[in-house]
Amino acid sequence: MKYFGIIAVFTLVVINVSVAAGWGYRASDQRRWAVLHPACGGRQQSPIAISARQAIPISIPAIELIGYQNPLPGPLTITNTGHSVALTIPKYTSEEEKKGFRLPYIFGGPLDNEYEIDGLHFHWGDKNNRGSEHTLNDMRLPLEMHIIHRNKKYRNTAEAMQHPDGLCVLAFFYQVVEFDAKLLSPIVKNLTAIENFNSTLQLPHTFSLSSILSGLDTERFYTYKGSLTTPPCAEAVTWVIFSDYLPISVFQMDNFRGLLSNLNLPLVDNFRQLQPLFGRRVFVRITSKNPKFKKTKLHYSKWDWVGHKKSENDVIDFDE
Ligand SMILES: [Zn+2]
Repeated sequence: MKYFGIIAVFTLVVINVSVAAGWGYRASDQRRWAVLHPACGGRQQSPIAISARQAIPISIPAIELIGYQNPLPGPLTITNTGHSVALTIPKYTSEEEKKGFRLPYIFGGPLDNEYEIDGLHFHWGDKNNRGSEHTLNDMRLPLEMHIIHRNKKYRNTAEAMQHPDGLCVLAFFYQVVEFDAKLLSPIVKNLTAIENFNSTLQLPHTFSLSSILSGLDTERFYTYKGSLTTPPCAEAVTWVIFSDYLPISVFQMDNFRGLLSNLNLPLVDNFRQLQPLFGRRVFVRITSKNPKFKKTKLHYSKWDWVGHKKSENDVIDFDE
């Protein structure tokens, strides 16, 4: 009887802590996301399994990365959110905008408007054989970076999340290499300072986005319509996933794995389970390297994102 009491009290405490924290990544936690955030149970969810064999080749422009070579406005901050490491980029003041300063933005590819950078974060694994959210040809990579962009026709992220064309996330896979790669070091070398949940660090130096993507082939990518991969799971995301890998060393991966979650446990395996496609199509951009696809060329103005026509009643409500 005494033991029952102890177990009951312990269980109560654990439940309270996880409710306070909002949501978690354990399989049992993920199944409950849709309770508070109904969109998480929708039919256009992310991440998904990407397969080169099943993707539909399509002739679309490359993604233009405008201002990616300029230093980001400072001070940049990194935060341990308890679910990830997020880089926050300050907005330019109206004075600075008058002088011509602009945040980096993207257009081209599947996008029919300009999308401005909103921030970036990472998903990683406890071991090198897992961590990425999307899988590529059944492979899970140890780290995936998401650079979030907001459609400029919406004033802020909250508004953009209400619209199917609200956000574009560029996703990058990392592959483990023997020696430290310099690319991510402005972030990685400072991770020890934000070991604890909710801690934030102002980075001493700013850097450009192209410096952390240096050498990546951006010509070839997959694209599909999906969602945020964390609650509220808004189905507002055009995903652009590059097939080329960026490098990261084991030592650098360990810096990510040394972070602590909101429950004071190692912050690892912060990736969502794969979601069903439900008739969605995944496209792959035709490049000069795969010209054999030219015969099956499909003009992007005629493409449809979803295999079947949605009925009037099939409208999904977004939850914030
Ligand atoms: Zn993410």
